[in-house]
Amino acid sequence: MGGATLLKETGPREVFCGLTSIVWLHRRMPDAFFLVVGSRTCAHLIQSAAGVMIFAEPRFGTAILEERDLAGLADAHQELDRVVNDLLNRRPEIRTLFLVGSCPSEVIKIDLARVAERLNGFYQGRVTVLNYSGSGIETTFTQGEDGALKALVPLMPESQEEQLLLVGTLANPVEDRLINIFKRLGIKKIASLPPRESIDLPSIGPGTKVLLTQPYLTDTARVLKDRGAEIIKAPFPLGAEGSRLWMEAAAKAFRIEEALVKSTLEPLLTRARKALEPYREKLSGKRLFLLPESQLEIPLARFLHNECGMKIIEVGVPYLNRELMQPDLDLLPDETLVIEGQHVEKQLDRVRASQPDLVVCGMGLANPLEAEGISTKWSIELVFSPIHGIDQASDLAELFSRPLHRRDLINHKSLAQV
Ligand code: SF4
Repeated sequence: MGGATLLKETGPREVFCGLTSIVWLHRRMPDAFFLVVGSRTCAHLIQSAAGVMIFAEPRFGTAILEERDLAGLADAHQELDRVVNDLLNRRPEIRTLFLVGSCPSEVIKIDLARVAERLNGFYQGRVTVLNYSGSGIETTFTQGEDGALKALVPLMPESQEEQLLLVGTLANPVEDRLINIFKRLGIKKIASLPPRESIDLPSIGPGTKVLLTQPYLTDTARVLKDRGAEIIKAPFPLGAEGSRLWMEAAAKAFRIEEALVKSTLEPLLTRARKALEPYREKLSGKRLFLLPESQLEIPLARFLHNECGMKIIEVGVPYLNRELMQPDLDLLPDETLVIEGQHVEKQLDRVRASQPDLVVCGMGLANPLEAEGISTKWSIELVFSPIHGIDQASDLAELFSRPLHRRDLINHKSLAQV
């Protein structure tokens, strides 16, 4: 264990942009609104990614800025002011408005930070206007959440109090379960970022110990550290063992007795290991190739190898933050090939040459690979599914055994027809 081979690759990429994260962020903070400043392409992406939500009263929208030259920028500012004004008149319940930048050149010309500052002056505390970029040039889809959370950090009140701060969006029931375990361990004050209401921001200061729930929060972790918080080093809470180590690291930071940690976690671990057995049977020995997209790839590879017995061919990550990822990298089997960045053509050549049993990839690559007889799992599904924590380990394994089961059925049917 502990000797991953790290390489870099550059070239054409095939990933979703940071706008996609609005799909889970708007569910988390119902009093916030995400206004994409973008083109019709951005509007299509966000509506189709959000699926059914377009039929409900949405908490996101797109201010579409058509082609304009620099001389037309004054009009763009007026147009944006008008859209924001209409929106806030129609939706007085909005408490935080995120202006989300995108990559069309006409949007890049606008300084959204200054627009946000101007609007904050105008609305005088009735609503807080923030901005971040979801541009496909700068971000992959999970980095949108990093940008949104980073924008919230300066608004967090100062506090010296000792507390555990969970950072990263989780499904509410999963988060409740994790908080409940931390409470049983004796941690008195536990807060979350993002909060469930955008105005209910947790405090921050030298007494705050941050436990990241998601591995794509590089910028947020940095600004939390700048505010005096300590980032707890741990593998990410995917799988029973990863979640155990994650919780143990928090318990150690709060000086909780090992015996209490063991007696609290052991029954959960016993149950999780038993629930994992049928999936381990299905997945063990199967060869896995992870293409870069969600930034969850390294902890997933660690879980699928160490707890499910899969053989890792290659782990792609959009970018590698060594500091945050080291605990997971240390748990990968020796010489696991980890490639940062992407040259999609070369990666697809390697996928075809290695003929894996399963490829984790973006939606755009899944269909062509399936057509070639290679089973796939969409990485975006992992961001929408409740997969964190000891209790969720078997659900996480099930997500990977499902496409293999489907392939078995197809092969069986084809054989029966011969
Ligand atoms: S931000 Fe860029 S990549 Fe994303 S939908 Fe808009 S145009 Fe496309």
